[in-house]
Amino acid sequence: MRLSRYFMPILKENPKEAEIVSHRLMLRSGMIRQQSQGIYSWLPLGKRVLDKVNGIIREEQNRAGAIELSMPTLQSAELWQESGRYDAYGKEMLRIRDRQDRPMLYGPTNEEMVTDIFRSYVKSYKSLPLNLYHIQLKFRDEIRPRFGTMRSREFMMKDAYSFDLTKDEAVHSYNKMFAAYLRTFDRLGLRAIPMRADTGPIGGNHSHEFIILADTGESEVFCHKSFLERAVPPVDVNFDDVAAMQAIFDEWTADYAATSEMHDEAAYAAMPEDAQISARGIEVGHIFYFGTKYSEPMGAKVQGPDGKEHLVHMGSYGIGPTRLVPAIIEASHDENGIVWPESVAPFDAVIINMKAGDGACDNACETLYTSLSKAGKDVLLDDTDDRAGTKFAMADLIGIPYQIIVGPRSVAAGEVEVKQRKTGARETMTIEAALNRFAG
Ligand code: ATP
Ligand code: MG
Repeated sequence: MRLSRYFMPILKENPKEAEIVSHRLMLRSGMIRQQSQGIYSWLPLGKRVLDKVNGIIREEQNRAGAIELSMPTLQSAELWQESGRYDAYGKEMLRIRDRQDRPMLYGPTNEEMVTDIFRSYVKSYKSLPLNLYHIQLKFRDEIRPRFGTMRSREFMMKDAYSFDLTKDEAVHSYNKMFAAYLRTFDRLGLRAIPMRADTGPIGGNHSHEFIILADTGESEVFCHKSFLERAVPPVDVNFDDVAAMQAIFDEWTADYAATSEMHDEAAYAAMPEDAQISARGIEVGHIFYFGTKYSEPMGAKVQGPDGKEHLVHMGSYGIGPTRLVPAIIEASHDENGIVWPESVAPFDAVIINMKAGDGACDNACETLYTSLSKAGKDVLLDDTDDRAGTKFAMADLIGIPYQIIVGPRSVAAGEVEVKQRKTGARETMTIEAALNRFAG
């Protein structure tokens, strides 16, 4: 992408409405724009990051055996009347009437709809286990939308729904998502800690919120420091291995970790003092086994091996991509701007032409830009005629992991300078070496 032809509306001033650093940096770097309260456009730079986040989520869901589909945002009220949630949901649900005066709603979640899809097609236990997911916009009329896309009214969710014949099989499905979540957040450059969450009338211990520690988080959390170091499941972990999945769950739930709602002061105090972490956190995911809560009122049954009909056991598994983007920034920034982990950076590298219009600089930039683009890299070429200082500040602000700096003096020697955003380390190398380094 050539910056001169791109759309990246950088703000010079710090936006006053932004209370936390991620919101400020997302507005300043032209990633998002508020359209009305709690409703945002994702501008091109932000959209790139969001797509990368969703790409990682999708890969890990698929790896764990979940299957992607796409359900609509607008739902008919009838389905929600069947489950009893149309009346129970309250003011967070945006209720709409169509031209025939039929009650509709903008989905805050999709349990009812996916259960309807399931019951329409699946009749036998032989089709199980089944886990269906989509990445789709949701609407919740939050009482206090704030912090940009961290808590918005329209937001994106990856929501998966598992269907199993028995509770034991549903627990395996739960454990698979648990392991997939550990891998997903790790690949996003985050340390997310699974914390026990309320299971309400369902009981048991199969509800976990995945929390990132951050001073600006809305939840008060308590955990053992062991979570900061623990290794996540490897890429070749076998999701079909019931015992292996259970072992991962057991390992990651052995030490204490809870939000304030579930806090057990005595259990926390029983840990050695130097192992105690009391902090604030951001909820980026939530997984939940809820048994037959929806299959029962909605009649989602399959024929079992015994020839009888059985209500299916279900679980749901949410991740908030539009919350994850600011959460990543909260975890990774410095006084000059965002520091993207390489896995989600909007561009792999930015080529900074220090003297646009200078033949040698322009040529070197073109060579780098076309070769790296051909090699499939996402590169931004700063070909504007801004001052060098402005270009450096912009490159730091938008957090691209590598800056390839092309100036008249180094180019005369056939060289460029490469700066790593995260460490600030600079290295001079030949143009060819830079190509080899980044095209690989
Ligand atoms: P919270 O407690 O933060 O209100 P929740 O418990 O209502 O969230 P879930 O229903 O568990 O949220 O939704 C799954 C995921 O969707 C959350 O873990 C979060 O990442 C994301 N999410 C929920 N509400 C919002 C929101 N208003 N804005 C952005 N992301 C959200
Ligand atoms: Mg939740």
